[in-house]
Amino acid sequence: MDAIARDIAACTACGLHKGRVRVVPGSGNPTTGLVLVGEAPGEQEDCQGLPFVGPSGRLLRRLLRLAGVSDDSYYIVNVLKCRPPGNRDPLSEEVDACAPFFHRQLAALAPRLIICLGRFAGRQVLANEDVSIRAMRGNVHQRGGARVILTYHPSALLHRVEFRADAWRDIKRVRRLMTELGLPREAVSR
Ligand code: SF4
Repeated sequence: MDAIARDIAACTACGLHKGRVRVVPGSGNPTTGLVLVGEAPGEQEDCQGLPFVGPSGRLLRRLLRLAGVSDDSYYIVNVLKCRPPGNRDPLSEEVDACAPFFHRQLAALAPRLIICLGRFAGRQVLANEDVSIRAMRGNVHQRGGARVILTYHPSALLHRVEFRADAWRDIKRVRRLMTELGLPREAVSR
């Protein structure tokens, strides 16, 4: 993961490198088999070089803790490693340019369970441009040897209260799947 992060730090493959303060390669525990996938860094992530440290990230981590999923029990990456201006949606050419880093990371992490936060994550993980979170959440999907859950991006939960009950069900399913898959017990808060 360190070698990939060094390559990301030197990357100028798409226009986003021009506006970034820092690259955001990912963070967390890379050994547990649980990987969370987000979309792209926001303002605070860009400043700190860490994923999910802004308001939506804090909400996500709080929900995970409430469900018994501790901070050290997962690794978290974004599809894009540099911040889109104004937090706009990623462009397809940016996603394509960054995809080799993302897929190298997933290969190195060898997850057994992947949580996709939002449609851009779901598209990349499942290699399906037609991913719809509303239509596909609630089921367990498969990518190679990993099970995959789709849920709303936490930034949507900040603004759309109607999504929160479903998101909470999805997060509780994560905990159940961790137990079912035998992911490291020390990675699960009791
Ligand atoms: S977003 Fe990805 S492809 Fe674009 S400059 Fe950053 S690291 Fe490179």
